[in-house]
Amino acid sequence: MKPIQEAARHIHRADTVVALTGAGASADSGIPTFRGKDGLWNKYDPRELATPEAFARDPVKVWKWYLWRRKKIAEAQPNPCHTTLAWMEREGILDAVVTQNVDGLHQRAGSRHVIELHGNIWTDECTSCDYERTNDPEAGEGLEYPELPPKCPECGAPLRPGVVWFGEPLPPDALLRAQELARECDVMLVIGTSGEVRPAADLPILAKSHGATVIEINPSETALSPIADVRIPQRAAPAMEELRKALEEA
Ligand code: NAD
Ligand code: ZN
Repeated sequence: MKPIQEAARHIHRADTVVALTGAGASADSGIPTFRGKDGLWNKYDPRELATPEAFARDPVKVWKWYLWRRKKIAEAQPNPCHTTLAWMEREGILDAVVTQNVDGLHQRAGSRHVIELHGNIWTDECTSCDYERTNDPEAGEGLEYPELPPKCPECGAPLRPGVVWFGEPLPPDALLRAQELARECDVMLVIGTSGEVRPAADLPILAKSHGATVIEINPSETALSPIADVRIPQRAAPAMEELRKALEEA
C-alpha cells in the first residue's frame, strides 16, 4: 500500500486526529523555512536573530527582519496543506492543528481550532507593560512604523513581535493544551517540521508513547523520522492534496 493510502486508512479508523505543523507546511506558500536558502536575509542566521539577546543588542535590526517576514507573509496565500487541514476539520476528521508557525496561514485557510505554540508574528507586545495588539495584515497594519523599534502607546517602552524566541518559554496554556491533545489523539500528522525545536518536537514522542500512530510528511528525513509509523517523503502541498483525494475515496 502506498504511504498516502496507509495514512488515509489510519485517519479513517481514528477517533481523534491532530496535526503538528512546522515551517515546511508554509514553504509551499513561498515563506522560507529557517533552514531555507533564499531572500535578502539569507546572510543572517535566523537562529541568531530570533533571540532575546539579538533584540537587546540591536532591536532595529531584529524589527527590520520581522517587517521583511511580515511583508512576505502578507503577500503569501494558504497552500493545499493549509486548505486540506481546514477541510478535514470541517468534515469532522481533524480535531486540531498545533502549529509552530507564526504566520496565521492556518486561520486564513479556515482552520478554527489552531494552537499557536510560538505566538503570532502580527502581534506587537510591550517589553515592559501588559500592552498587546494584533495587527490586521488585510488592513495593511503592522507593515511599517514611524520609528523603530515602535514604542508602546501606554508606557513608551519598546514593542516587540509577539513570537516565542529561541531560549524563551512557550505560552503555558498553548503547551498544556497541545500536550493534552498529544496524549489523547489516535493519529498525529507531523507536517514540515525538523523536529529539532523543543518542546514542540516532544509532542509526537508523547503521542506515540500514548499509543498514537505518527504520520510524517516531509521531503527530508528528520529527527522524528525514526518514530514515524508512516513516512510520506513529499512536499506538504502535493502530499496533502493526495491525502485529501485518498480520504474522499476511502
Ligand atoms: P525548520 O525551518 O527548522 O524546518 C523546516 C522543515 O520543513 C524541515 O524539516 C524541512 O525538511 C521541511 N520542509 C521544507 N520544505 C518543505 C515542504 N515544501 N513541505 C514539507 N516540509 C518541508 O522549521 P521548524 O521545525 O518549524 O522550526 C523552526 C521555528 O521557526 C519554528 O518553530 C517557527 O516558530 C519558526 N518559523 C516559522 C515560520 C512560519 O511561521 N511560516 C517560518 C520559519 C520559521
Ligand atoms: Zn507598555
